[in-house]
Formats: sequence, C-alpha cells, structure tokens
Amino acid sequence: MATSVTTPKLTTTFYNRLPITVPLSSHFLSLQNTLTPFSHNCFSLLYFQCRRRHVAARAKSDNGAELPSHYDFDLFTIGAGSGGVRASRFAANFGASVAICELPFSTISSETTGGVGGTCVLRGCVPKKLLVYASKFSHEFDESNGFGWKYGTEPQHDWSTLIANKNAELQRLTGIYKNILINAGITLIEGRGKIVDPHTVDVDGKLYSARHILISVGGRPFIPDIPGSEYAIDSDAALDLPSKPEKIAIVGGGYIALEFAGIFSGLTSEVHVFIRQKKVLRGFDEDIRDFVAEQMSLRGIEFHTEESPQAILKSTDGSLSVKTNKGTVDGFSHVMFATGRRPNTKNLGLEKVGVKMTKNGAIEVDEYSGTAVPSIWAVGDVTDRINLTPVALMEGGALAKTLFQAEPTKPDYSAVPSAVFSQPPIGQVGLSEEQAIQEYGDIDVFTANFRPLKATLSGLPDRIFMKLVLCAKTNKVLGLHMCGEDAPEIVQGFAVAVKAGLTKADFDATVGVHPTAAEEFVTLRTPTRKIRKSPPSEGMTGPEVKAAAGV
Ligand SMILES: Cc1cc2nc3c(=O)[nH]c(=O)nc-3n(C[C@H](O)[C@H](O)[C@H](O)COP(=O)(O)OP(=O)(O)OC[C@H]3O[C@@H](n4cnc5c(N)ncnc54)[C@H](O)[C@@H]3O)c2cc1C
Repeated sequence: MATSVTTPKLTTTFYNRLPITVPLSSHFLSLQNTLTPFSHNCFSLLYFQCRRRHVAARAKSDNGAELPSHYDFDLFTIGAGSGGVRASRFAANFGASVAICELPFSTISSETTGGVGGTCVLRGCVPKKLLVYASKFSHEFDESNGFGWKYGTEPQHDWSTLIANKNAELQRLTGIYKNILINAGITLIEGRGKIVDPHTVDVDGKLYSARHILISVGGRPFIPDIPGSEYAIDSDAALDLPSKPEKIAIVGGGYIALEFAGIFSGLTSEVHVFIRQKKVLRGFDEDIRDFVAEQMSLRGIEFHTEESPQAILKSTDGSLSVKTNKGTVDGFSHVMFATGRRPNTKNLGLEKVGVKMTKNGAIEVDEYSGTAVPSIWAVGDVTDRINLTPVALMEGGALAKTLFQAEPTKPDYSAVPSAVFSQPPIGQVGLSEEQAIQEYGDIDVFTANFRPLKATLSGLPDRIFMKLVLCAKTNKVLGLHMCGEDAPEIVQGFAVAVKAGLTKADFDATVGVHPTAAEEFVTLRTPTRKIRKSPPSEGMTGPEVKAAAGV
C-alpha cells in the first residue's frame, strides 16, 4: 500500500543512512502491532525517524571509522531475478544510480550459475508454462475425437524440438532483460556478489560501495539427503532433460510437483506422485485439494498418499526403484524431488555483517523489506514471504519507492491471487473456507461442480469446480476458488473484485458472459453451506439450522 509522507526531509533521511551494523531493535517490529489507532502515515514517519535515530546513536559510538561521503552507487542489487530487476529499474527511473550483479547464464542454477531474469524466466514460471502448453495437446487430441476429428496415425511428439525451442526462447528473454537494465542506465556486472560491510559488495574480487544494498538472490531447489539422492533430479533439471522420462516418480504434493506431474503425464510419461500427507496442496482450500487430485487421477496420474521415499536404488539395467515407508515401487527412468526450495543465503557474508536470518536461511525483514542492518534490504523469495513472481515484483517496486521517492511503501499481501498450472489448473484469490471460518466465524459457501459444455461432446470425464466463500454478516466475498480449464485466466479477472472488497450482491448484479464457465461465478444462487460459530439467530429456519451444522 502506498503511503505518502508530507515532510520533504524524509528523502534526506533515506539518503543519509549511515554505515553501521546495528541489528534493528525489535521494538520497530512490535511497535506497529501496538499502534492500530495510528494512521499509516504516522506510523511510517515514526518508523523511519526511529530507524534514523538508532543509526545516528550508533554512529557516535562507532570505532571512529570515517563515513564515506561518496558511494559508487545509490543502490547495489545482488541478483537480477524478478525482485532485483524490478527494484533496480524503478530506482533508476526515480533518478538513483544503480548497479546489479548476476551469475553467468545456465538453465541449471548453482552457486556459480544463474542468469539475468532469474528463476521465473529461466527455471520457473516461463519454461514451466511452455512445457505445460506442450503437454496439453494430448488431452486436446482426445477431446477432438468427439468433435469429429480423426488422425491417420497417432500424433508423435519430438522432445528435442520442444527443449531446443524452449531454450532458444530463454536465450531471447535473458537478452531482453539485459537490455531492459542497460536501457534504464543500470550498470550490469556479471559475477557472484558477496557483502563485505554494510555499504560494500564484492563481485568476484572487485569492490563496489553503495548507499543501499538490496539482496534479491532468490532460492534454489533442495533435494533431501536420503540414500540414492544422487540419482534424483530437481525442477531445474526436469525442465531441461535430454530425453522424455518413460516413467517418473515425483516426490512432493505442492504446486510444483502437481505442475510437473501434469506436464509429464500430458507428454505420455507414466507418472507416480509420492506425498507424505493424505492430500495434495497443503494450505489450499480443502474442496480444491480433493477435486484436483480426483481429476488428475482420472487423467492417469497415480498418487501414493502418506508414502515417503526413504531411499532410491539403481538397478543394473539403469532403472530406479523408490523405497518408501510402505514398500518399493520399481522401474522408474527418473525420480524428481519437488519437496521445497531453500533461500540462496549461503556464503553471502550476511552473518558477518549482522543481517538476521530464520532457521531455514531466509532473511528476516520488516514491513518495508528492511533487514537488521539499516543500509541493507531484501525482497523476493530470499525473504520467504509469499514466493511468487508478482509478489517479488511488488516488493521490489515498493522498496524503490520507499528509498528513492520519499514514499514509504509497504507491500500489500491481502488478496494475492495465485494459480497452479496443473491439468486441470487452479486459480484462487482470498481466503480458503477453513481460513475464513477461523477469521470470520460465520460464513456462507457457494459451490458449483459441473460438466463443462466441451465435455458433453468430447465424452471425457472433465469437470469444473467453483467456490465462493462469503462473510455471512457483510456478504463480502472473502475467497474465490476454481479448478478447471482456464481457471488462472478467469480468476485473474475476478481477483480485482475480491481485492476491491465486493459483495455477493455485486456478483449477482453482474451480467454473465454466455456461454462460458466463468458465468457460474455470477449465477450461484443457493448456498451449499452456511457455517455459524455464533448461536443461530432467532429467525433462522429449520433447513438453515441444518445447513449451519453442515448437514
Ligand atoms: C518450477 C517453478 C515454477 C514456478 N512457477 C511460478 C508461477 O507459475 N507463478 C509465479 O508467480 N511464481 C512461480 N515460481 C516462483 C517464482 O519463480 C519466484 O517466486 C520468483 O522468481 C522469485 O523472484 P526473486 O527475484 O526473489 O528470485 P529469483 O528469480 O530466483 O532471482 C534471484 C537471482 O539471484 C541470482 N543470484 C543468486 N545468488 C547470487 C549472488 N551471490 N550473486 C549474484 N547473483 C545471485 C540468481 O542467479 C537469480 O538469477 C516458480 C518457481 C519454480 C521453481
């Protein structure tokens, strides 16, 4: 949320941050919780004044080191992924002198390789979506039969064409990102950045000073250390395999695991998904979790629930077996781990300089993306807030405004929409039913589970699930969820309505676009459930009481 501060002195405040390694006192963080009646501007001003006073106090007691009167740059960014590029570009547009360093390009990330554009462009959203597109054709070929299409021979897929075209596109995109930086007047340095002191970055032996340092180094996939883990691949490698897996085990129940399951299944690999829990997609709405697993199973993916791999064994014929708590599944050509990612904070010099981190290595930041060191900031996956590209962009943009536009700006994490590009895909915004009950108590739930028009002729068992979660008292739409064709595209549009705090009455007053699946969201008439934590009101009818009890 953007907040403007009227005092012109604030710009000077940011520019005059002093080079001291003071951990930010925890009262900065706790202060806000105790200040709810304060206006946002008032808090912002207080925050930055406090931060400056702290720094100034330490300056006097410092060991007498001369404060540099001039830095090489106003901002030095380590890591040219989504967050780093956005912050740097906006900062440069606001008139700051900016440098950014990034590791040399590779499709596989490591301590020494990366590439301008970062995970999203080179090893995440973009290549993943290209492979999703490739994999969707097989389902569409199946659908087409009911519409009269006949094929002389089975359509053949050429893996090497797909990977070569995908890699050419990545090269094009990394080039575009480099040009964006250069055209914005940013100094682009290839190499590994490491923090030396609160105002100095070392890139492969060369030192650069900066008034502010931004850490936007993202994260990397992590494979747990079990016997045989050296045979496993991660998501980086899975996006750049030299040949198509014949039979693949995917370990993990999160969104990346489901997306890759859909990709390989669509490209006709045999896919087994191993998940530790009973259900996929922990943290998502329960109905969506059930629905997507059911639909993916119908498309041939085998889920092994509550089954954790304990070892990977390689046979003499080269095939892999996965030994789990329940037995052994043989005959895999590939085993992929999608069990999580770790922030790239190793060997960055952070401990030495006083930047605080959580147990899993994420950088601790306050609401303005400030670290424990006043001149050092962090955005994106490295802070492990919401690990999505548009969130990293929002954090980077907010930071540039905070530092170089005298406009202290907090990223706003309410109603962040997201998607899972599984097949069928998911789109969601706002609260799940479970979160809404916790937060609001009394809620109304509207759902629709239907066969889309396309499936009537295709004859396939495809269905669509949609859900609205409402605050019973205000009628406001708290959450909107969909699993089915085009869900991410549809939910992006509806996210504006949810973010704006519109009510079910606003949805009802909106005319549908016909014939679409999306029109269901504006024609849901009868609640599926009414959940009441408070005692039923006097006027509640028998059926309403029953519905409230979930029967
Ligand atoms: C398989 C996959 C699919 C995904 N799909 C989606 C999706 O569909 N939608 C979505 O919103 N998000 C998706 N994400 C998440 C998204 O990619 C990240 O949230 C986003 O890229 C985070 O941006 P960032 O700037 O924090 O870090 P990154 O994009 O990871 O950028 C960090 C950069 O820092 C560089 N770096 C690291 N250390 C150093 C160093 N010491 N010196 C110099 N440079 C360094 C790295 O090489 C990298 O380029 C996906 C992620 C993965 C892995």
